[in-house]
Amino acid sequence: MAEAPVGRKLVEVDGLKMHFPVFAGLLRRRAGAVRAVDGVSFSIAEGETLGLVGESGCGKSTVGRALLRLCEPTAGRIAIDGEDVLQLSPAALRRKRPTMQMVFQDPQASLNPRMTLSSIISEPLNVHTDWSAERKAVRVRELMDAVGLDRRFVNRFPHEFSGGQRQRVGIARALALNPKFIVCDEPIAALDVSIQAQVVNLLERLQRDFGLTYLFISHDLSMVRHIADRVAVMYLGRIAELSPRDALYAQPLHPYAEALLSALPRVDRAGSGGRAGGRGRIILKGDVPSPARMPPGCNFHTRCPKVFDRCRTETPQLGEVQPGRLVACHLYPATKPAAAPTGGNNKNTTPQQGD
Ligand code: SF4
Repeated sequence: MAEAPVGRKLVEVDGLKMHFPVFAGLLRRRAGAVRAVDGVSFSIAEGETLGLVGESGCGKSTVGRALLRLCEPTAGRIAIDGEDVLQLSPAALRRKRPTMQMVFQDPQASLNPRMTLSSIISEPLNVHTDWSAERKAVRVRELMDAVGLDRRFVNRFPHEFSGGQRQRVGIARALALNPKFIVCDEPIAALDVSIQAQVVNLLERLQRDFGLTYLFISHDLSMVRHIADRVAVMYLGRIAELSPRDALYAQPLHPYAEALLSALPRVDRAGSGGRAGGRGRIILKGDVPSPARMPPGCNFHTRCPKVFDRCRTETPQLGEVQPGRLVACHLYPATKPAAAPTGGNNKNTTPQQGD
């Protein structure tokens, strides 16, 4: 199991819910709610990378957006660097923004095609500082150096760059105000496989150089294995398992995590001693239920190969079942309820794609 030294918690999330109302009928009465995120709790230590994985629609991107208050959660508490971001006034939130930033999935869509690199990267400086034009120009060039963009490109437009270069621009913009915490929302999903590892390596180097803390949202389990210290597996709006990376990939405990990781090529799993490495792919039957009609009990019970009676009526709570490992499943009685431990850095592998 990966070592999990406890660091200072930079991000603390407790009971986060994001429900979207559903209206129906002629009078558009409220008929229910889509539970995109349904009681998610975790914390991230300073300098740590927490991977957040799961199928499309499981709520992982909504968690990322809620953390930065890009959408208003229905319930829960989010503390970043000791401040409850959900309680901040608009003015206080604006002052807080520089410390928490986001790198988006699609660099093409997230960059204004009519703006030059210089104006894109300096945009946050215009909004949050009263720096002179000269000082901003110096900062833009520093940031371009930091992300590996040629300074001569400063007056070019996004369409003149490759996808990887555009993502570097997006990262430079996110770094402009010296943030502490960055949500990376599928930052490599729109890139060619050959350059995905370059961008991940860049994110790792920037983390070391600037002491950044990441929430790395991705469906790419191989890349998450490379970059994350701990990994949270989400299913239908809830965390099924949150474990140190090495322990999870060697032996996932939650049946959903086990099925998800069984889809990885054997070379990307643990050694043959681990269950995940020593068995074939687990094919789940049935579709993911609608988050507007959550099944009672365990939300995975309609597809779980290990379901038993209790699962259909009683919702399992996320709890610590082994040191540092949190699982929400009746098969694993918790030794203590979830007080999501933070992990330490334990990166040691190299990316396996076109680096
Ligand atoms: Fe499967 Fe039951 Fe565990 Fe849910 S609680 S994952 S249905 S065994």
